[in-house]
Amino acid sequence: MKHALAKPNIRHLSLSDLQEYTTRVGEPAYRAKQVYGWLWQKHARSFEQMSDLPKAFRQQLAGDFSFPVAQTELVQQSQDGTVKCLFRLNDGKAVEGVLIPAGKRLTACVSSQAGCSLGCAFCATGYLGLQRNLMYDEIFDQVAYLNEIALQQAGHRLTNIVFMGMGEPLLNYKQVLLAIEKITSPDAGGFSPRRITLSTAGISKMIYRLADDQVKFNLALSLHAPTDEKRNQIMPINQSNDISSLLKALAYFYQLTRNEISIEYILLKGFNDSLADARALVKIYRRLPFKVVNLIEYNPVASSPFQRADAHTTDQFIAYLQRQQVNVRLRRSRGADIDAACGQLANIVHTDARLKLPQVDAC
Ligand code: SF4
Repeated sequence: MKHALAKPNIRHLSLSDLQEYTTRVGEPAYRAKQVYGWLWQKHARSFEQMSDLPKAFRQQLAGDFSFPVAQTELVQQSQDGTVKCLFRLNDGKAVEGVLIPAGKRLTACVSSQAGCSLGCAFCATGYLGLQRNLMYDEIFDQVAYLNEIALQQAGHRLTNIVFMGMGEPLLNYKQVLLAIEKITSPDAGGFSPRRITLSTAGISKMIYRLADDQVKFNLALSLHAPTDEKRNQIMPINQSNDISSLLKALAYFYQLTRNEISIEYILLKGFNDSLADARALVKIYRRLPFKVVNLIEYNPVASSPFQRADAHTTDQFIAYLQRQQVNVRLRRSRGADIDAACGQLANIVHTDARLKLPQVDAC
């Protein structure tokens, strides 16, 4: 039995591929740029939305190409203003993206994989296991949709993008870099790479590769424990990528790019929140010109044995780091009531927090 060949995804064509196509089908050359603009600047979700193209050409495109887009199946809003979106992908898999308002900042936190293979002990996503890598257009869709919510709710565009949602971005290297290229390139998203931070649990080999590829975005190391002995207990990846190998890779990254590097550190009660832990953290901080240590309030997840460090211990930890001249910030928990906070993304729905947003049209 013959199977019809699947139509190519139009968003996997480059501008020059589109130019070749328009020439082949007898359309004027400028049509390729029009289509490209609809795909990557105006974030069209269907060929019909490409309203300045002749109807016959739109029909031809629909006959020749597929145009899968991530569907926003559910939007939930936390009491603190954080918005979490559940995106349904073309094959039925789901991922989450979060919009975090904080003063004038509007940060989109996006996912790079459905699930995650790294199994960090404190993280709800880790308990899902890896389902699959996302394609670059699926990552782009999360950014574009969160940007539209930002415009609707706050009247301005996203100010920052962080790859801190579901998945380990460096284990989906090619697609994440392609997504960032689309998000930042002037003829597509036009977003500054200096306002993008990729957070990694620490894959040394890929950090060297980022440096060699001369990327322009910032890096955050999810450290979460200041010694190998402790880190091995909560982040299995540390057994093959220990702290010393990560610091060497980060030094190389900094030497070649001069891009900002920060440390992320979730404070877990009775595990990594003592003064001895703070001292060990200061030693790591002094090894490289880290921009900041972001201490993160933990949000317990059902599958994990950890609890949030108490307020007094947290204050003492911060005070010690400050006395040691560490540039430290406490990232308060955001969106915990809808499981949108750090480490909580696991496609859990809170029906009482569903947000009714106006229908979003392509801008
Ligand atoms: S913390 Fe990040 S790397 Fe670790 S399991 Fe969760 S999503 Fe994966």
